Amino acid sequence: MTNWQELERKYFMNTVVRVPVTLVRGEGARVWDEKGREYLDFVAGWAVDSLGHCHPAVTEAITKQAGTLIQTSNQFYTVPQFQLAELLVQNSCLDKVFFCNSGAEANEGAIKLARRYGKLKLNGAYEVITALNSFHGRTLAMTAATGQAKFQEPYLPLPPGFINVEFNNMAALKAATTAKTCAVMLEPVQGEGGVNLPDSNYLKAVRTWCDQKGIMLILDEIQTGMGRVGTLFGYEQYGIEPDIMTLAKGMANGVPIGVIMAKEAASVFVPGDHGSTFGGNPLACAAGYATLKFIIDHDIAGNAKRVGQYFLTGLGKLKQKYHFVTDVRGCGLLLAIEFNSDIGGEMLTACLNGGLLVNRVKPNALRFMPPLIIGTKEVDEALDILNKALSSVLVKVK
Ligand SMILES: *Cc1c(COP(=O)(O)O)cnc(C)c1O
Repeated sequence: MTNWQELERKYFMNTVVRVPVTLVRGEGARVWDEKGREYLDFVAGWAVDSLGHCHPAVTEAITKQAGTLIQTSNQFYTVPQFQLAELLVQNSCLDKVFFCNSGAEANEGAIKLARRYGKLKLNGAYEVITALNSFHGRTLAMTAATGQAKFQEPYLPLPPGFINVEFNNMAALKAATTAKTCAVMLEPVQGEGGVNLPDSNYLKAVRTWCDQKGIMLILDEIQTGMGRVGTLFGYEQYGIEPDIMTLAKGMANGVPIGVIMAKEAASVFVPGDHGSTFGGNPLACAAGYATLKFIIDHDIAGNAKRVGQYFLTGLGKLKQKYHFVTDVRGCGLLLAIEFNSDIGGEMLTACLNGGLLVNRVKPNALRFMPPLIIGTKEVDEALDILNKALSSVLVKVK
């Protein structure tokens, strides 16, 4: 059998510590490795495979579009991007879209839009306040936006204009706001930072503050959007509306796509301000339309809410049973389990051996982001594997 690790060392830049499994096929919430071993997939391409692997509705849309028209550039009109734009606008509080190809790219564009707004309406204000422990992507500017030293330090100096303040701390946010501030950018629930939920009134208070100051509120819903947290978009749960929102990850069930959405008043780009070669291409938009249509028509967000609640209850029982589980938390099907020591790696391996794929979000925590189509049966199976994994590491922990 091919030695993939050796080939990786030979051909790849050394950027990722991979789990030593080579996946060759997926269907629904399950994937298979090259040896034919089956796994329950609670990573789902990092919260991307919303409808599960190779969902027939999306596969059909991709196949049909691939035989019709794939890429034309935005010099011309193409149909799928209009269908997707209309569906996104009709089902959100935002009015306008700009399509791109990834999350970081959507956030870059959102910051450009906020700076454009700052130039036009806020006397040239350009600073953006973001949160510590946030994650906004891997470009240089998004590394500056991402409030985590480990991502920033290797690349200093970073593009200026970003201020990172403590999440859930209104006083810190207010203190950082100056005449130079054009926007605040937050994830409704911090994903990569460890599945950190906002305090109940935090986002409302941020919204009020942005309104008072006349600055933009940008919500990065790249991970929380598309039903992941139990509503189509995360903002719905906090009684607020953003001025600008970004989406990517779960939008097209695995096909790369991203979008910047904005309220009419915030849509200040004029021709030439921004662009993308692949953004809005018919193939990705057809996949995005099929995905979003299915999510809406089958209330997949509602399923994520119900099944997520069931999962969280089950995780709570594991917390009661194992003293070294210090916290379980989450919203919809974005959940985490935290330990009193750095056993995330051992737990990931124990889950893998039990047939469950998970993400080690911190040295002492695992994150779960399964396809949103799973039921309680898959959750029971995952909880059973987790229980066995916890009891197997029990001997090693204090
Ligand atoms: C994953 C993620 C990004 C970056 O998306 P990419 O497609 O990897 O560039 C940005 N923000 C959030 C909240 C994310 O979860």
